[in-house]
Amino acid sequence: MRGTAAETLAPFAVECRACPRLAHHLAEVRATHPDYYALPVVPFGDPDPQLLIVGLAPGMHGANRTGRPFTGDHAGVLLYETLHRYGYGNHPEAIARDDGLELTRCRITNAVKCLPPQNKPQPDEVRRCNAYLKAELAELAPSSSILALGAIAHRAVLMAFGLRARDYLFAHGAQHQLPVGHSLFDSYHCSRYNTQTKRLTPAMFRDVFEAIAKRASSRSGAR
Ligand code: SF4
Repeated sequence: MRGTAAETLAPFAVECRACPRLAHHLAEVRATHPDYYALPVVPFGDPDPQLLIVGLAPGMHGANRTGRPFTGDHAGVLLYETLHRYGYGNHPEAIARDDGLELTRCRITNAVKCLPPQNKPQPDEVRRCNAYLKAELAELAPSSSILALGAIAHRAVLMAFGLRARDYLFAHGAQHQLPVGHSLFDSYHCSRYNTQTKRLTPAMFRDVFEAIAKRASSRSGAR
């Protein structure tokens, strides 16, 4: 199935205000930036993905501004370039919700759907929003892959499956076979900081996508 630029499905409530600190922060952002989206950001992409990418949370001037994950700021540059290279996206840039970008076989979500102050969600906020991630993961086919961008997203995925973090340690480039059948891949987050300091290079990111592609082709060959 193919996702469109429109937000996709999800057992998700855009009117959710379950985290008081984040709801208050978003109200402040809406007051100072009335042109910003500044609400919980809905996942984007294919409703029936082979790859679910889990980021941390909306960025202030990216997803929080435009209303689509990793859209409109530097954090999406390497991600959407790479998705295009591997055939998941119809073009390599994400500028705005009406930019015509479509994802096929891939969907992008966040561990925390609301903008946190200083990009740092608190543990209770990650736990609360985990109900949405859990519902998204429950819809995935067992043959699907999950890509966690950063350690918080990695732990949020494990929490959603009821797995212990100490049994599946985060490391860039790691691949974990989960009991439910999915493979969980880890990458450093593709943030401006990580890409500009070269903690995450395009080649390192491509290596993760190569591993995901290899897993997909081995599974389709096994059928
Ligand atoms: S972070 Fe998640 S649970 Fe908390 S208010 Fe936003 S959407 Fe609701």
